[in-house]
This record gives sequence, structure tokens and C-alpha cells, in this order.
Amino acid sequence: MDLNYSTEDLAFRAEVRAFLDAKLPQDLSDAVRLGRGLGKEGHDRWHSILNEQGWLAPTWPEEYGGCGWNAVQRHIFEEECCRAHAPRIVPFGLTMLAPVLQKFGSDEQRAHFLPKILSGEHWWCQGYSEPGAGSDLASLRTRAVRDGDHYVVNGQKTWTTLGQYANWIFCLVRTDPDAKQQEGISFLLIDMDTPGIEVRPIILLDGTHEVNEVWFTDVRVPVENLVGEENKGWTYAKYLLTHERTNIAGVGFSQAGLEAVKRLARQQIHRGRPLIENPHFAARLARAEIDLMAMATTNLRIISAAAQGQAPGVESSMLKVKGTEIRQEINDLARRAAGAYALPFASEALAGDNSTLAPPEGSDTVAAQYFNNRKLSIFGGSNEIQKNIIAKVSLGGRS
Ligand SMILES: Cc1cc2nc3c(=O)[nH]c(=O)nc-3n(C[C@H](O)[C@H](O)[C@H](O)COP(=O)(O)OP(=O)(O)OC[C@H]3O[C@@H](n4cnc5c(N)ncnc54)[C@H](O)[C@@H]3O)c2cc1C
Repeated sequence: MDLNYSTEDLAFRAEVRAFLDAKLPQDLSDAVRLGRGLGKEGHDRWHSILNEQGWLAPTWPEEYGGCGWNAVQRHIFEEECCRAHAPRIVPFGLTMLAPVLQKFGSDEQRAHFLPKILSGEHWWCQGYSEPGAGSDLASLRTRAVRDGDHYVVNGQKTWTTLGQYANWIFCLVRTDPDAKQQEGISFLLIDMDTPGIEVRPIILLDGTHEVNEVWFTDVRVPVENLVGEENKGWTYAKYLLTHERTNIAGVGFSQAGLEAVKRLARQQIHRGRPLIENPHFAARLARAEIDLMAMATTNLRIISAAAQGQAPGVESSMLKVKGTEIRQEINDLARRAAGAYALPFASEALAGDNSTLAPPEGSDTVAAQYFNNRKLSIFGGSNEIQKNIIAKVSLGGRS
């Protein structure tokens, strides 16, 4: 197994870097670097720039508009985007729904929906989780009842990320309440403008509106918006989840985050010395960096195996657990490095501080990022669930 980059890989990296230097708008890059929100406009702008370049859908087959990159090139692209603080591409249409439509959708669905995902005309959100169905997703209760050439949907989804921007939602719905849990589920595509849909905000710990509840009351959905076969939705749902965990290690995010912590710790003075020279802080930072280097190598090993045709299995669970632990540790280090400046993501909390020193750049958002990223070990399959998967495989089913 060769973990070194080839000459072609290095040339590709240079090409990506040149593109980012030329085309990544400064205001978007600054917003990402400083941990500020982009809003719909910012996401849409970067989506269009990548689409124009033909680099929006690295994982799609070329016949549908993919870039034809191999796994190593995709990894390099991710790494360079993180290094340059490019916005993250919203995954729901591009990397979650699209592979399902490409494999299980009808020709009409592929022809209708895939181009609109690329153009940005459709912004998708994910309607899987419900108040009583998260880790135990198969216990979902949102009902869809056939009525002529429509399904009538009633129920509630929750934690719907960026649902306030979306105009379409893909939903798991129960079409046969009498079947065994996983067997009575179908996969529906629902236009968010249909009467009977209500989106209610959920405000997260950091004060942002990132997730929502989505309520359905007698929502009529044309039967042609069913993906695949009725009651076979669980198969498509699981296939989608394997794509949700793509790039789960988040190596590039952690590398960029670690650099930001180092910058902050060089500026902050602790007992007359830069914080980065404090032995306790330096040791913790070094440990995070060593863990990250080890994970980056493991990630490359898995990518290299994938490039030779081996599908990642339990390794993606390992990467999810380790990758999110490292990102949360980096968030914690940043919060500690910023010290008092991290306290107020409400700026008025600093009132009364007579310090004449300007706060280090970006320190005002580190607490918000720390709180926001508690989510990393919950979504995409919680870390406890991933540990169950690892235990099952490594202990041969005796977990
Ligand atoms: C910020 C955020 C964004 C999200 N975005 C979306 C979205 O866009 N669309 C969507 O459909 N969903 C989304 N989710 C939902 C997410 O997938 C669920 O939160 C996740 O699956 C966990 O489900 P739950 O919250 O119901 O927790 P529960 O399943 O109730 O779990 C609670 C706790 O118990 C633990 N636990 C549960 N079962 C076991 C077990 N068998 N063994 C050991 N421990 C266990 C869990 O690890 C967790 O710590 C999002 C969640 C968050 C936090």
C-alpha cells in the first residue's frame, strides 16, 4: 500500500490550489475562517462557482455531471478546500439524495431532479429523524396513506438541518403500519411548498437557527415522487447513510482548526509568556496533533484501499468516532486559549471589562463553535452507536 502522493496527485493539488486562489471569494473565506455564518446567499454563491467549474459533484458518475475524480483526488480537493477556508458544500442533495436517485430512482426522477441539484434550483433537506426515532430510526411514525394518485402524509420530523432554506425534503414515511418495523417504510420526495407543511425553528446552544421541526398535516404528495418501491424505503435509507458518512473523518477541518488554535495560543499571554509555551497547554495541543496525524494516516490507508476497490466497512465508524473526538478537543483547546474572550458569544457579557487589549481575531466565535460542535458526536449516527458497530465486528457479534 503506497501512502505517498504520485506526481499526478501533486499536479492535481496545485490545480485545485490555483483555482481556490483565483475563485474563492474573500468574504466567504473570511466568514468560514472566523466561524461566522454564511446564510443562504453565501452557500448559494459558492455552490454556483463550483458548478461553473464542473467541480460540484466529485462523487457523482460522469454521465450525470460528476468530475471523474478518484478517491485520492477527492481527498486532496477536500483538504485544499479546508486549508483555504472554503465553505462546506451542503450535502443533502449532492451527496445524500443524488446517489439514491442514481441507483434506485426512475429515469424521470433522475432527469428531473439531478440537474436541479447541480443548478441549485432545489435545496434539499433530510427528513429522517423524529422525536421518537433517532438512533432507533426504524421506529419512525410519520404516516403516508395512498389516496388515488397521491400519498397523504401526516406526522413530524425533527432536527431538520437548514430546513428553513430548503424547497424540497426527502422523507422516510410509514406506508404499512402492520409490517415489521423496517419493512413498512417508504422513501418520498416532497415539495416544501405543498400546503400542510410547517417549518418551526429550533435554536441551538450557540444561539443559531440551524435546525428545525417540520410538521406535515394532510400533505398530498404525487405517487411519482415515491423512490423505488413502496415499503422498500429502508434499503434506500441505509444506502443513503453510507454516503452521509463519506469524509466523516473531517481531517481537513481539524487541520485548519488546529492551525487556528496555534495562532490564538501564540497571541495569548499567560504569566508573561505566550500560551503556546505553557507546558500543560503545549502537551494537550501536541496530543491532539499526534492523534490527528495518526487519524490522517489511517484515513489515507482507507482511501488507498478504496482506490483499489475495497469498500470501507467498520473503518468509517472508527473514523467517525476518532474524527469527531479530535474536532471537539480542538474546539475545547480554542475555547481555553481564548480565555475570557471566549466567554461572550453575547458581546454584552464583556461589559465592564476594562482591558485595553484588542481580542485576538476569531476569539469571539470559539465558544459558539465549541457549543455548536457538540452535535458532531450525535448526528450521522451517534458515537455510542458507532462503538456498538465496531464492537460487533471486532468481537464477532458477542457485544
Ligand atoms: C445538530 C443536529 C443536526 C441534525 N440534522 C438532522 C437532519 O438534517 N435530518 C435528520 O433526519 N436528522 C438530523 N439530526 C438527527 C440525528 O441524526 C439524531 O440526533 C441522532 O440520530 C441521534 O438520535 P436522537 O437525537 O433521537 O438520540 P437518541 O437516539 O434518543 O439517543 C440518545 C442517547 O442515547 C444513546 N444511545 C441510543 N441508542 C443506543 C444504543 N443502542 N447503545 C448505546 N447508546 C445508545 C445515543 O448515543 C445518545 O447519546 C441532527 C441532529 C443534530 C444534533
